[in-house]
Amino acid sequence: MVKENKTEGSPRVRFAPSPTGYLHVGGARTALFNYLFARNQGGSFLLRIEDTDRERSSGEMTGQILDAMEWLGLEVDEPPVHQADGIERHSADVRTLFETGKAWRCFADQDELAEVRARLREEGRPLRRQEVPGHGDEETAARVAAGEPFALFYAIPGGATTFDDIVHGPTTVEHAHMDDFVLLRSDGTPVYNLAVVSDDIEMGITHVLRGDDHLSNTPKQVLIYEALGVTPPLFAHVPMILGPDGKRLSKRHGAASVEACREEGILPEALVNFLALLGWSPGDDREVMDLAELVEAFSLDRILKKSSVFDPEKLEWLNGRHLQLKTAERLAPVVLELLPDIERDRATRERERLLAVTDLVKTRARTVESMADQARPFFTPLEELSYDEKAAQQHWKNPAEAIERLSAARNVIETTEPFDHDTLEATLRAAAERLEIGAGKMFQPLRLALMGSAESPGIFDVLTLLGRERSVERIDRALEALAARNSGGLDSSSPVGSPGSPSPESPS
Ligand code: GLU
Repeated sequence: MVKENKTEGSPRVRFAPSPTGYLHVGGARTALFNYLFARNQGGSFLLRIEDTDRERSSGEMTGQILDAMEWLGLEVDEPPVHQADGIERHSADVRTLFETGKAWRCFADQDELAEVRARLREEGRPLRRQEVPGHGDEETAARVAAGEPFALFYAIPGGATTFDDIVHGPTTVEHAHMDDFVLLRSDGTPVYNLAVVSDDIEMGITHVLRGDDHLSNTPKQVLIYEALGVTPPLFAHVPMILGPDGKRLSKRHGAASVEACREEGILPEALVNFLALLGWSPGDDREVMDLAELVEAFSLDRILKKSSVFDPEKLEWLNGRHLQLKTAERLAPVVLELLPDIERDRATRERERLLAVTDLVKTRARTVESMADQARPFFTPLEELSYDEKAAQQHWKNPAEAIERLSAARNVIETTEPFDHDTLEATLRAAAERLEIGAGKMFQPLRLALMGSAESPGIFDVLTLLGRERSVERIDRALEALAARNSGGLDSSSPVGSPGSPSPESPS
């Protein structure tokens, strides 16, 4: 009699990582698809840590995987299951198979088996009990009586196995092409295919969504379900993720783990959005979607059949789009975390300025790293400010000229009222005109004086966010550095002054 698996009612799905490394992008996508499906259907999303391989699994990696899932916002509905806790049940299931005549004892060691397999391959026949020498009924009874160790092999019946994969469609495998396979090793440990089936039955899993590297395991698993008298779950095998070079995505491709993306300043919202679109599409032209929208739109029938390519450019682009959607309140703590200590202390004290700077830099950034880079100089203490040498060579090449332009800018900045973007723009442009130079010739040296580099948000935004006092202080410091350059030789290697002519600010 066939026992009904719990396919009635709401779906139960699971993500089943092996804790042998960081959560990689492929695993995270599997987790996400399971999550989206469960939430869309009002079902349950479960986590099973497949830690039976004691040598390769580690508690630390389990912790990393849990952290990564939490960071992505993929909350599970029940406490995680540890596969290693189920070993007794796995063995009991194998015993059931043996007692019902669906498994056989194999006494052959690795070498003997390899020999048999090689011969059968040549003859084009599958591995069966009768093919292994010394495995007749009488010999088996004698070996059991002698206490010889044995593995248990599943005895594949005649016929064929068919399952209907939601992504790949119906698949049929003739049993004549399948070898009898091990269920329990001679040391008493269960193999992956058995443990997965036993656990999925125990957890009441209704749909198995996983990478299509497991497609070839599926006929074996379906056979085990049937042998245990349980209706198999539905399967959806998601095509692999490839790197930009067309090879299966791996560490070689850089940010292949959730951890690495996180370190590179990718927002969880952006990574989730990106992963969802790797092998699935909402069916319209939407690209920027949050988790709630993804849950709403997700369906298994729009999982794509062909492999998808991990495009780091697109991830950054999506990240930029998600940055725009975030409030400064939400982003400021992330930026703060990435600032060097000195700037972080100051930005913490100057919260209003931090929020305003965050709002400004988010429009120009694709990663939070780049936001932090742009935000940093706003909070650098005067005495710590340094000048990018390449920019100095270009924009302060002629110190006397730079001094003249900065001084003109300084006068305007000191007196412009109100001190706002548009008024500053008008007064500074007028000052450049008075010197009969293009505005850029004044703004670039000024930018370098204010921010220490030739790249920054718009100069009038920089001025308003620094404020009048801090802007003037910075210009004065730059004027001193330029004066030192002027007297210390034009090729001074230090932008603050040539060796032997330290700036008055330097703690000499
Ligand atoms: N532990 C397996 C893996 O990490 C997943 C098994 C499954 O989803 O059935 O590839």
